[in-house]
Amino acid sequence: MSSFSEKTISTNSIFEGKVISLQVDDVELPNGKMGQREIVKHPGAVAIIAFTAEGKLVLVRQFRKPLEKEIFEIPAGKLEKGEDPLQCAFRELEEETGYTSKQCELLVTFYTSPGFADELIYVYEAGELSLGEAHTDEDEFVEVVAVTLEEALEMVKKEQIHDAKTMYAIMHWQVKKLTKNE
Ligand SMILES: [Mg+2]
Repeated sequence: MSSFSEKTISTNSIFEGKVISLQVDDVELPNGKMGQREIVKHPGAVAIIAFTAEGKLVLVRQFRKPLEKEIFEIPAGKLEKGEDPLQCAFRELEEETGYTSKQCELLVTFYTSPGFADELIYVYEAGELSLGEAHTDEDEFVEVVAVTLEEALEMVKKEQIHDAKTMYAIMHWQVKKLTKNE
């Protein structure tokens, strides 16, 4: 199998933000020609699939400025520098929803946008939840809701759920129900 890898000739840093950075790389393509790649570097993130005692999925409603609309997502957040993803999962679940869990199991990791960004997301499933109090970041405004599978599927149709990690959570939920024959 031939390699499609691209050799980096130079990297130009365009922007260094608090969360992401943007660089433009000149690359040599497999056919020997030159090309350019616009790349966003991201620290990575975690997302948590959490079910209430009634078996509903915990979602947060928030305004997403890049999309200019509100959507419902599973709780998630960025990794802080050097932070262990599991600890980040415990922290984000509590901060965003007020729920705590003593155990979280890593289900999968995936790249969110491999065409232009290196963001890797770790998706956990939380064990039994206890309810405390949410304390979101000062620039974070969210509402916590819990939905049934039927409600979640309807929200996908209406594009109220419109991101890949939450779609994954719903798929995971469906598979889980099928294998349990619920
Ligand atoms: Mg968040």
